[in-house]
Amino acid sequence: MRVAVTGGGGFLGSHLCEALLRRGDSVVCLDNFSTGDPANIAHLLSDPSFEFQPADVSLSVEVTGRVDAVAHLASPASPPDYLRQPLETLAVGSRGTENALRLALRHDARFILASTSEIYGDPLVHPQEEAYWGNVNSIGPRSVYDEAKRYAEAVSAAYRRTHGLSVGIARIFNTYGPRMRPHDGRVVSSFITQALTGEPLTIYGDGGQTRSFCFVDDLIRGLVALLDSSEMGPFNLGNPVERTVTELAEIVLAMTGSPSEVKHHPLPVDDPVRRRPVITRARDVLGWEPEIDITEGLRRTVAYFGARPDRLGTSAAAIRGGQSETVPLAAVKTTATAQQAIPSPSAAVTGVASATSPGLPASAG
Ligand code: NAD
Ligand code: UDP
Repeated sequence: MRVAVTGGGGFLGSHLCEALLRRGDSVVCLDNFSTGDPANIAHLLSDPSFEFQPADVSLSVEVTGRVDAVAHLASPASPPDYLRQPLETLAVGSRGTENALRLALRHDARFILASTSEIYGDPLVHPQEEAYWGNVNSIGPRSVYDEAKRYAEAVSAAYRRTHGLSVGIARIFNTYGPRMRPHDGRVVSSFITQALTGEPLTIYGDGGQTRSFCFVDDLIRGLVALLDSSEMGPFNLGNPVERTVTELAEIVLAMTGSPSEVKHHPLPVDDPVRRRPVITRARDVLGWEPEIDITEGLRRTVAYFGARPDRLGTSAAAIRGGQSETVPLAAVKTTATAQQAIPSPSAAVTGVASATSPGLPASAG
C-alpha cells in the first residue's frame, strides 16, 4: 500500500510513517515543519520506500503516482502552538482537510482524519463517548483548533455521504511519548523537561483538572487499525485511565528523582476540567485497546528526553513562565534545520518557513 501522510514530520506523524514502513508500506510524507521537526524523519530518508515532500497542505496536496490511503495529521496540536498560529490552524483544519480529501477522492483511496477529544470541548458528560456532541466555545481562543477539527469531521463525513469516499475519523485523546518537542508546551513534555532541568513544574490552576494519557505506540496501533478498516467511526482513541495534572506532576517527580518544586499559574481560558474516553467502540469494531500503562510510557519518554540534554536547557527557559507568559518560541532552536536534515529539494525546503496561506501571517514556529 502507498500511503500519503500529511503532518508526517510531526510527533505522531513520524511514528505513523515508521509503523507503515515497518510493515512494508510505501510512505509519502508531506509537511511544512511549522510545528514538526526534520530530525523526526531524518532516519527515514535513506529508505527507498519513504519520500518526503515539503508542502503547506492548506495550499494544495499533490502527490504523483498511486495513492492507496491518505492519513491527514497536519495541524498544530499543542495549545501554545495553535494559540500562536490561530489562522494557520483554521486553514489546515478546513482548506487543508479539503485538499487532503480531494487527493483521496482522485485516487479512490482510504482517508483517515486525526481528529481530537477537543471535539467535546469542556465536556458536560463524563466520561466521553462518541455519541456526545460536545460543549465548545465557538469564539474563545481554543476555538481555532476545536472548531477547525469539528469542521474537518463535518467535511470528511460529507465526502463520505456525497462521494462515497472511504473515510475514517479518529478522535485522539492526549498522547505522549518520544519525539514530543521539549518546548511544545504540552503538559507531559513540559513536566519532564522541567523535572530534568530542575525548573519548577508549571501547574495551571489547582491541578485538579484531569486528562487520560495514552502512550504513542498504542495510539499508532489504533490509527493503523482504522486505516486498514473501512469504518468511519468516529472512534475515540485514548487511554481510559484518568489522572489529575497534580498526579502527573507527582509521578514525573518521583520517576526522575528531581528536586524541582511545583509552581502554580493561571488556568488557560476554556481549559477542559475533565477528560476520559469511552473506548468500547474502538475495542469492539477495531479490536484495539491500549497496552502500555503510564509508568512504562513515561519511563520511555523520560529516557528519550534525558538522552538529549542539549535541547532541554533552551526549552526549559521557553516554558518557564507557564503558558500564559510564554517566551516567544521562535527563540527556541530545533535539533536540526530543514536544510540540514532534508537533502533535496533544498530550495523548496528553504521556503517552508514562509509557506503560509496567502494573506496569513508567517508562523512564529
Ligand atoms: P505535531 O505538531 O507534532 O505534528 C503536526 C505536524 O503537522 C507537524 O509536523 C507540522 O509541521 C505539520 N503541519 C502543520 N500545519 C501544516 C500545514 N499547513 N502543511 C503541512 N504540514 C503541516 O502534533 P501531533 O501531536 O503529532 O499531532 C498530529 C495530529 O494529531 C494533529 O492533527 C493533531 O490535531 C492530532 N491530535 C494529536 C493529539 C496528541 O495528543 N498528540 C491529540 C489529539 C489530536
Ligand atoms: N498544563 C499544566 N501545565 C503545563 C501545561 C499544561 O498544568 O505546563 C495543564 C493544562 O492546563 C491542561 C492539561 O495540563 O489542563 C493538559 O494540557 P495539554 O496542553 O498537554 O493538553 P490539552 O489537553 O489541554 O490539549
